[in-house]
Amino acid sequence: MHKKTTAAVIVAAGKGLRAGFDLPKQYQALSGKTVLQHSTLKFSSFDHTVIVAHPDYFDRIKEVLPGVLVVAGGESRTQSVFNGIKTLRNLSIDYVLIHDAARPMVTPAVIEGVLEGLNTAPAAVPVMRLVDAVKTVRGGAIGHDADRNALVTVQTPQGFHYAPILSAFEALPAEITFSDDIAVAVNAGMAVAQTPGDLNNFKITHPEDLAKAEAIMTEFKTCVGSGYDVHRLVDGDHMYLCGVRIDADKTLLGHSDADVGLHAITDAIFGAMAAGDIGDHFPPTDPQWKGASSDIFLREAGRFVSNAGGSIEHIDVTLICEAPKIKPHRDAMRARIGDVLGLPIDCISVKATTTEQLGFTGRGEGIAAQAVATIRRPR
Ligand code: MG
Repeated sequence: MHKKTTAAVIVAAGKGLRAGFDLPKQYQALSGKTVLQHSTLKFSSFDHTVIVAHPDYFDRIKEVLPGVLVVAGGESRTQSVFNGIKTLRNLSIDYVLIHDAARPMVTPAVIEGVLEGLNTAPAAVPVMRLVDAVKTVRGGAIGHDADRNALVTVQTPQGFHYAPILSAFEALPAEITFSDDIAVAVNAGMAVAQTPGDLNNFKITHPEDLAKAEAIMTEFKTCVGSGYDVHRLVDGDHMYLCGVRIDADKTLLGHSDADVGLHAITDAIFGAMAAGDIGDHFPPTDPQWKGASSDIFLREAGRFVSNAGGSIEHIDVTLICEAPKIKPHRDAMRARIGDVLGLPIDCISVKATTTEQLGFTGRGEGIAAQAVATIRRPR
């Protein structure tokens, strides 16, 4: 089975202000970011992400989520989602997950569950069983028990095989609206897999929900890890530093592509997770890593963090060498690291220093790198 091409559509088109909010809820601040940023960053390992929003907020979104595609919403939620899905038409998407921007605390397990559900059915939805007893109410009076076992509540992300859900939306009359996207799939006769929801994956609706989310999100600790790496310089014509190819009259020697910068960052991330070092995860004795591009190691370290329910907050790396000059490549390096880890560029610092021609770096015998990773982990 080929690796599935995945896309996330984040639905943030609502402009309505409910009582108590001065801005739509998706733009409210939550633990140092906006609600929309949290929701979107949960899908950073996906191949494509589209945010559906009101054009009034495009600038605000692009400022905090550079590189993410933003399209305008429609008259109804159903039309907004259709606009998002249509945008992906030429990208050979296998699986599309549609997520409410107002659910910033969706967990990797919920997302993974939906993706697994799509291996068995063309649609999948996270469900929650009802815990409380359920009663009918008629004319304001409590009536009979409703059958709790016949009812579930559903959350997002709701997942779909791309081609059939696009057809299902295309077949809808323009004026019809549904409360969610699974309803569109059910309307089209698609089978739906039920996958596990999560209590914390609630939808922020009222100001007190925001306070509750803030309280849950601060049940985290901030951990800092450091990494250090050295590779030898030998005759050659190019090298990789922080994921960027640089033409030079030397190259770095190593089992993989010997990218000292990415190795130091990878080690810093494992350090912050107290999860050993790069050699434990990718043994140099393993032939599969021979000549490997080091962004593989970095991407896996990033996944290790998100699988543990954590998030990388900041990366700072210092390259120590006399040559090549780092400054002309610095922003490309930051962009590359951000791309691999799914982080905005303002969370990534690349610096360089020389050792005043002292020691092995000063003599040009090798390049060293040290890195610090700051990570939020569940307590
Ligand atoms: Mg190394």
